[in-house]
Amino acid sequence: MSDVVRVSVGGGSPEGTNCAYLLPARGVVIDPGPPSDTAWTALRDGIADAGIAITDVDHVLLTHWHIDHAGLASRLADRADASIHAHADDTLLIGDYAAARERRCRRDRRVLERWGVPESVRDDVSSADTPSPVPDSFAVTPHGDGDTVVDVEFVHTPGHTVGHVSFRTDEGIFLGDLLLPTYTPNVGGSDTRLDDSLGQYLASLNRFESIRTDGYPGHGMEIEIPTAIDEARRHHRNRARAAFRAIATPEPSARTPWDVARELFGELRGIHAKFGAGEAAAHLRRLAELGPVERLDGTPVRYRPAIDSYPTGLLLTP
Ligand SMILES: [Zn+2]
Ligand SMILES: [Zn+2]
Repeated sequence: MSDVVRVSVGGGSPEGTNCAYLLPARGVVIDPGPPSDTAWTALRDGIADAGIAITDVDHVLLTHWHIDHAGLASRLADRADASIHAHADDTLLIGDYAAARERRCRRDRRVLERWGVPESVRDDVSSADTPSPVPDSFAVTPHGDGDTVVDVEFVHTPGHTVGHVSFRTDEGIFLGDLLLPTYTPNVGGSDTRLDDSLGQYLASLNRFESIRTDGYPGHGMEIEIPTAIDEARRHHRNRARAAFRAIATPEPSARTPWDVARELFGELRGIHAKFGAGEAAAHLRRLAELGPVERLDGTPVRYRPAIDSYPTGLLLTP
């Protein structure tokens, strides 16, 4: 019996195919996958191939509330008579699904307006954000940093979402969307509750600074954690410099996160409008915190350069 079994559960996420992970000896499934019949079949087959029965699954652990990770949790828990566990900050978005989703959609609209996203694009984002086929509500046990379930430790790693966690085990670290092999996880648009999402994300990376064990991401193949951390930091340093350039050239001006997103990414539609505006907002917000950029509050919020040129070697990390 392998210690860790990866099951590719498909899914329409822009981040690529989702991975569910089984820890057969512990009766644990991490991030069962999106709420589709195809994913369910893949998960069921994966559990059988691992040499255990579905009823041997006792605990479903979730790295964060996103539906491509958490969507199958209630179906699996029902079938296996298992319990579901997540960080307290994401529990409602998972288990109080219908009501929390309505609140989230309203908040997303408000936040997109603050970022300067035009009404027609906000409508487009809203109509692409359809309800998923999961029960309106079900039980999810809330946890905090350092909690354990069958010796699997919750490590709170906010940034991609407020309650994002990684799981530390003897078998390795399960990263969810903290670090991915070919794609930098979205920060800013992936949970509109966060204020300084980039600051929180970079602080979360600091927690795994000296880790040498294998990292199992929520999408794609295993990664070397130190290399992935270096790449994520470099990516965000470059993007912050590009965001500064967008408000500093050709003339310094006060611009919204949406203006900057269009400059950085070009045409943006549907979910990409939310992710793109969120990325720009997160970098400008972080730069305002550090000094090179001044924030002009209001709806929409605007940012303008506070200095003539971008500081060389600026580290964004808190
Ligand atoms: Zn995610
Ligand atoms: Zn994901």
